[in-house]
Amino acid sequence: MSYDAVVAGGSVAGLFCAREIAARGHSVLVIEEDFEIGSPEHCGGLVSVSGMEDLGVIPSGKTFDSQITRAEISSPGGKKITLDAKKQNVSVINRRELDKQVARQAQKNGAEIRVKTSFKEIRENRIVTTAGEVDFKILVDARGVSALIQKDRTGILQSAQYEIYADWIEKGKVEVNFDAVKYPGFFSWVIPSCGGAGKVGVAGKNISAMQALEKFLDQKGKHSIIRKVFAPIWVNGPVENFVSGNTVTVGDAAGQSKPTTAGGIYSCGLGGIYAGRAISKFLETKKHDELKSYQKSWTEKFGKEFERQLFARKMLERLDNKSIDALFGSITPEIISDMSDNDDFDFHTSAIIKMLGLKGSLKVAQTIFGSEIRKILG
Ligand SMILES: Cc1cc2nc3c(=O)[nH]c(=O)nc-3n(C[C@H](O)[C@H](O)[C@H](O)COP(=O)(O)OP(=O)(O)OC[C@H]3O[C@@H](n4cnc5c(N)ncnc54)[C@H](O)[C@@H]3O)c2cc1C
Repeated sequence: MSYDAVVAGGSVAGLFCAREIAARGHSVLVIEEDFEIGSPEHCGGLVSVSGMEDLGVIPSGKTFDSQITRAEISSPGGKKITLDAKKQNVSVINRRELDKQVARQAQKNGAEIRVKTSFKEIRENRIVTTAGEVDFKILVDARGVSALIQKDRTGILQSAQYEIYADWIEKGKVEVNFDAVKYPGFFSWVIPSCGGAGKVGVAGKNISAMQALEKFLDQKGKHSIIRKVFAPIWVNGPVENFVSGNTVTVGDAAGQSKPTTAGGIYSCGLGGIYAGRAISKFLETKKHDELKSYQKSWTEKFGKEFERQLFARKMLERLDNKSIDALFGSITPEIISDMSDNDDFDFHTSAIIKMLGLKGSLKVAQTIFGSEIRKILG
């Protein structure tokens, strides 16, 4: 068996990549180790509508779960700010269905998809899978965070996310809770899906995510758990090289999810699309430089923003609960309405800058961070 491209990993990044390669008439095989595309789902499903448009997906009735209208962000001491999220146009989508929708797009373009087939090893232009050997010109590594675990553990946090039914999940409201002791370097979250269901999760450095989540749920009140997911998230930003020889790395495997929230549907999906287009050009011209244009395109779009997000999370990691409370205390109603009116879900460092008070009186922020704050403003 021989293909122009073989994609290891049949989730958003790999499937978008395959869709683009197949659209230009090249042969492409996607192998996915799980039994089903889209399952097990390990995602909150929060995505901007504009992001979905860029990815070329119009959510179907099955894919769309709910619309987000507000975000409530809490400090450890219980100070809350509520952002009006209507202008940001953020949806909750059903990842099981989204992945299938993209698989369908790829298949329509001519890609071949095989589930329950694992990538084992690479031997020059041949890969060994659990279902035999396959020849390729380009291998796309779209294996998600599991590919990074083998290379670099430093940016990995453990997360736990349960799908639950609970009366206290409010339609349209996302909750984010900061606490440097319970969730060091990250936060807990509640994302409403549909029909009284929601996804509740936590992540943090050096904690038992499961225990932290169970405590959080106990404190929230009565609930029924219908599904549990434990998955690593990557928060260290992009890896140095997306392309190495005949291997092109996309999505979470290339560190393309946001360093602040680990959200990656949009940035990993676009990584897959840019890679797929670059691979097609390489297949047509045989010029290796065409492959490199993929990293250039992705970096032009996300590079600066991810650098600033990375710095923002380094600052977050250094804050204790007293400092977080102090920062929340300095957020004025004007800052909240500015954030609600002007900030972008996908490129959100400007919102973080406002939240941290880095542009306002600077007093609280400067006491905590000193002159380093210039890095995030620059
Ligand atoms: C708890 C949690 C909540 C999240 N919430 C959000 C959110 O609300 N919004 C958002 O935008 N992002 C969210 N994310 C991040 C988002 O899910 C990822 O960024 C995105 O799925 C990355 O896509 P990917 O295709 O790169 O990798 P993945 O989705 O991880 O897919 C990798 C695929 O490769 C397969 N694979 C692995 N090894 C092999 C192998 N050897 N052979 C064959 N196949 C293999 C896996 O089975 C998997 O299907 C969340 C992540 C987690 C963990």
